[in-house]
Amino acid sequence: ATPTALLVGTGRGAQRGILIKGPEVLESTRTVDTIVLDKTGTVTTGRLAVVSTEGPDEILRYAAAVEAGSEHPIGRAIVAAAAAARGERLPAVTDFRATPGRGVRGIVEGREVLVGRAEFTGAAPGQAEHGGHTVVTVAIDQDVRGRLVLADDIRPSSREAIATLRRLGLRPVLLTGDNADAARQVADATGIDEVIAEVLPADKVDTVKRLQDEGRVVAMVGDGVNDAAALAQADLGLAMGAGTDVAIEAADLTLVRDDLTAAADAIRLSRRTLRVIK
Ligand code: ADP
Ligand code: MG
Repeated sequence: ATPTALLVGTGRGAQRGILIKGPEVLESTRTVDTIVLDKTGTVTTGRLAVVSTEGPDEILRYAAAVEAGSEHPIGRAIVAAAAAARGERLPAVTDFRATPGRGVRGIVEGREVLVGRAEFTGAAPGQAEHGGHTVVTVAIDQDVRGRLVLADDIRPSSREAIATLRRLGLRPVLLTGDNADAARQVADATGIDEVIAEVLPADKVDTVKRLQDEGRVVAMVGDGVNDAAALAQADLGLAMGAGTDVAIEAADLTLVRDDLTAAADAIRLSRRTLRVIK
């Protein structure tokens, strides 16, 4: 492969909203046989909304007060829901602490409030499932008092893009920190068989390594801080354009269009470029 021809390939990618870190990236698109897809913000829009609240009146207000310190899409959705419900100012929070992939905690009006996965708040595992939705449990002074149910829309282009990726010979795998039920729902709606759910942020990279140990050549698409290490570990890392800077830095390729069809385009275009110059 002549460097000039490779550069022409990368230039053509840029025209289609695919930013390639360097011409050497094209080479790895030839051998990838597996594509690991982060769920939230990649296959789905990542713009969550609270669809129902269960528990005493103060649940949403308390949860929102704590989540005000969080940058997680779940936190942003809860704060927005509380603002829409009353618009009054949220109570102050002290001792805020966020635990990535698990939840947040803080002191509100003298009470300890935990918002997050079932085991984080001390809830029974089943309490974090609800018809395929993302669910967070809320504990006040170590008592599980309620749940917030959130919905996230699947990107309209995801199903078609996943079918195209399959035609390119890639096996899609859905990877998420969310509950297995919610993950399955998204997988079924988009035509993915293989699901790895309830994975802690630090373990996403190990999941990619494990697939590589099985002999698979892995592409990974992600958007979050949580995905950065896995994107770097993957044989080909693709970041969503609207994703966090750390994810974009860790990736080999950035999808400016911010949808999965760009991932399929990127692989097809790269392979075509390699064929032309061989
Ligand atoms: P994903 O892999 O889908 O991007 P994360 O790893 O960020 O998800 O989070 C996994 C799970 O941890 C969430 O589904 C939620 O139950 C819990 N969680 C993480 N951050 C928060 C937060 N700020 N508030 C409540 N729950 C949270
Ligand atoms: Mg994500």
